[in-house]
Amino acid sequence: MGSATGLAQGWFEVRRPEPGVFTIVEPLHAEEVKSSLVVGDERAVLIDTGMGVGDIRALVEALTDRPLTVVNSHAHWDHIGGNHLFAPDTDILIHEAEAAPLAAGVGNAKLRQAFAPEHLRGRLPPGFDVESVVIPPTPATRTLHGGETLDLGGRTLEVIHAPGHSPGGIVLLDRANGVLFGTDVAYPHDLYCFGKESDLSAYRATMTRLAELAPSLRVVYSCHGPSPMDPALLPRMRDALDAIAAGRSPDEVGDGVARHAFAGFAVLVASRGAEAGT
Ligand SMILES: [Zn+2]
Ligand SMILES: [Zn+2]
Repeated sequence: MGSATGLAQGWFEVRRPEPGVFTIVEPLHAEEVKSSLVVGDERAVLIDTGMGVGDIRALVEALTDRPLTVVNSHAHWDHIGGNHLFAPDTDILIHEAEAAPLAAGVGNAKLRQAFAPEHLRGRLPPGFDVESVVIPPTPATRTLHGGETLDLGGRTLEVIHAPGHSPGGIVLLDRANGVLFGTDVAYPHDLYCFGKESDLSAYRATMTRLAELAPSLRVVYSCHGPSPMDPALLPRMRDALDAIAAGRSPDEVGDGVARHAFAGFAVLVASRGAEAGT
């Protein structure tokens, strides 16, 4: 019931859906962003660093003693907030198309809006000051292009470039275990494809590729919405994007955004009026 009791640092909820995978949830913010910690025999990878509330590094170091690599799925604020806690002694990887915004950081004006009371479901921890918080710049130590493999020892993550939501978005595939980390690309909630940097045709190509993987997948862990997600949603998301591109009528239009509702998820695209106006 919105109680912070039991939350690590009064902010994080840690789940362990299967051996070697931790889901780090931030349930007191409406976006309910999820970062994933994937632990192999030799190394661990942290997929995203959350909103920058609390100390996600201390949290992760209590969960694993393996040497860590941070992989940012993309540079949106709610996925890079804790990066500065890992710099400069930890490798930080991001797709080259979003290396610049990561290196720029995020200013207070944007974060003040993001942490406004209407977006919160509980209290921010003491010491977190909305009026002054920023996300400091953290240059990537290496950029990704898609096609790389990250060897964790007994577990391998393949990097797949997955643009559409954002130009440098990636998903990570653990092929041997049938696990896809779907990041902000595929999750069972409102998929955002209305921002300046979103691209519906790129998103369609991405989802076509992910839908082809669906039969080989056991589970999808993503960054928003209920987790885990049934891989059977991937081909339905592909079909949804195709239908929107073919002129499907939205179910709701408002504020420059058209919402297309489907069973188990929705897609938000820029409404035609908004496109004409920008
Ligand atoms: Zn995003
Ligand atoms: Zn996000």
